[in-house]
Amino acid sequence: MSIMDLKVNNPPDLSEPYKEFVRQMSDWYDGGELPERAGQDLRFTLELQRQKLHSLGLDMKCELKKNNGKIDVGGLSFGDRIFINTIVGGNMDLTRSIDCNHDQIYESTEDIGLSAIIQSLKTDTQPSADMALSCPHCGAPSTLGELEGGCKFCGTKFLMNELYPKVMNFFIYGKNDREKDRAKNKRDFARIFAVCCVPMLIIGVIANLFIDQTPSKILNIIYGITGGIFAGAYIAFMIFVFKKLFEVFSLMGKHSRGGAHTMSTLFYASKIKKYDPEFSSEYFRDKIMSLFKMAVYSKGAEELACCRCQCPDKAADIIEAQLFNFNINGCSIKDRVCDAEVTLFLDCLHYTNGKIKSKTDKFRMSIRKHIKNPTELGFSFAAVSCPSCGGSFDARHVKACPYCNTEYLHEEHDWVVTDIW
Ligand SMILES: [Zn+2]
Ligand SMILES: [Zn+2]
Repeated sequence: MSIMDLKVNNPPDLSEPYKEFVRQMSDWYDGGELPERAGQDLRFTLELQRQKLHSLGLDMKCELKKNNGKIDVGGLSFGDRIFINTIVGGNMDLTRSIDCNHDQIYESTEDIGLSAIIQSLKTDTQPSADMALSCPHCGAPSTLGELEGGCKFCGTKFLMNELYPKVMNFFIYGKNDREKDRAKNKRDFARIFAVCCVPMLIIGVIANLFIDQTPSKILNIIYGITGGIFAGAYIAFMIFVFKKLFEVFSLMGKHSRGGAHTMSTLFYASKIKKYDPEFSSEYFRDKIMSLFKMAVYSKGAEELACCRCQCPDKAADIIEAQLFNFNINGCSIKDRVCDAEVTLFLDCLHYTNGKIKSKTDKFRMSIRKHIKNPTELGFSFAAVSCPSCGGSFDARHVKACPYCNTEYLHEEHDWVVTDIW
């Protein structure tokens, strides 16, 4: 094997696109432009989220700073005929602040893991020039060939390496910060100790004054104080241990969410894979999360072409959602129409009664797709090509081709949401 072959077969180095994406995301949450590195569906969810925040009078800023951890590029990937999606992870400090009418109502700094799903072209494939694609600059529906020659709407010309790699989705995982844990433990113990010590001191002193252990009053008081401190410390320690025990239990529950149904998830994923060999649970996870975000962030979920239901009331106050885990609870396939039911385990920020609350949430979702065609990792509703006339158009809000008026049935091309509860 020659060195040339090795070069061709090497996975692309995605650390630069990753860093670029992180910078662009920070800019976006600082009031800047939509991240050009982000794929069209991700750009759409970011836009919907900003619209929702603005309609509530909120301004959310997220500052991402890389801490000393390494960027992990070598990880997992999944592909179809044309694309390969690689999971690239890194550690960051995320400072999130939320303002309401210029008053800060929320701030948190967290040590997080951020994994980005980065899509690149397979080295041995060349996608066709008429592949539908959105212009990364103005978002207009276009095709690969048109974008290379110059976008019809904004005129921007793109080279292939500017169009790819692009980030399809990103996930944030909270990490345990040992330094912070230690500081919190100290604070907790000091607080409990103070609360326990004061009554114990009083009881100790009063009791020793009456018991008269020694003839000296001062010595009795000293005995009382020492006894009070020891008793207070002992009770405080017992309470502290109980408190930590409960915290560990609730944390264990939090970290094992969704773990009990891993087998059923794998079973149903392989059932779908029998019909669509390019289906993968990683792709499915990206898909259900972006569908959920679109439905929850948009003003009217039912107006979206990918959504056949309304946003449930209990999700109406969600302003930020991150997926922790998911389960596939069931899946029926009839005439190649697949109806799947999934559970999403999420970490969300809710905005209720003027306050931001961080909560763990669980939502069920029914989704549907005609699985007669294999998975297309590059598919986006923002730029589709009409199966009848070949024209490319933005199908996010329309149900028919604007050129030939043929009905465009979304579930024939990608997953759509039929219910959320
Ligand atoms: Zn353009
Ligand atoms: Zn058409």
